[in-house]
Amino acid sequence: MRFDIVTIFPAMVEDGLRAGVVGRAIDRGVLAARVHDLRSFTTDRHRVVDDVAYGGGPGMVLKPEPILRAIDAVAKEIGAAPRVLLTSPQGTRLTQQVAERLVQSPQLLLLCGRYEGVDERVRSRVDEEISIGDYVLSGGELAALVIVDVVARLIPGVVGDDQSVADDSFSRGLLDFPHYTRPAEIEGGAAGQTGTISDALRVPDVLLSGNHAEIRRWRKRESLSRTLERRPDLLESAALDDEEREILRELIAQQGK
Ligand code: SAH
Repeated sequence: MRFDIVTIFPAMVEDGLRAGVVGRAIDRGVLAARVHDLRSFTTDRHRVVDDVAYGGGPGMVLKPEPILRAIDAVAKEIGAAPRVLLTSPQGTRLTQQVAERLVQSPQLLLLCGRYEGVDERVRSRVDEEISIGDYVLSGGELAALVIVDVVARLIPGVVGDDQSVADDSFSRGLLDFPHYTRPAEIEGGAAGQTGTISDALRVPDVLLSGNHAEIRRWRKRESLSRTLERRPDLLESAALDDEEREILRELIAQQGK
């Protein structure tokens, strides 16, 4: 899969793409990401990308022509019309489901707005607007990095173990179960209790038992109880198996007591 990102802050996006699984996937060629400096698509000596708004008012607007030229340049490079996403607080809210739809496309071009946003006429070339949440960022770069990250980890081979992606929060409509690593016990930090081991700081016994069936059931139960407690709305559309439905019934019955 290939991402093209058009921005006035290419270094910010490039830095963000270098770390972790996304950076490694790019190095290994599992993923391609090209960052395009919007200023290189200007034609004036001062490489101006923004201008005042018609009708007046505060704030600058990103000019349309450099953005349209950037889209054309990517089209030429890939030999097809790119799928163009505009980062915008007015767009479709990004969720795991939306990411699963976006990953179906072999290529995505992400436009990063700044200031008051982009000239409205750019939208004539946009396939979809994507928002990363109900708040306003000062630019689309962080949103583009979020979109690349969320979509990229769905590409087989980007995250080392595909099962960990399948278990992640939201992938099946449930929140993930808690994770522990060594050591099995750590010292409690409560005041006046130095040196004591509090129960909260021990790894649950079941995880140390080596009983895989019990561990699997414990994890399902934890996923379900967390989801019930924190995000009960997710349970309405979660795809549960028979065992999970049974556990959920037990949890709800316990809640009622
Ligand atoms: N005046 C615009 C906001 C402009 S913010 C409005 O109210 O709709 C500047 C840029 O930041 C936007 O063009 C967009 O690219 C990005 N941005 C801001 N908030 C965002 C969000 N929640 N999701 C995705 N992109 C966002």
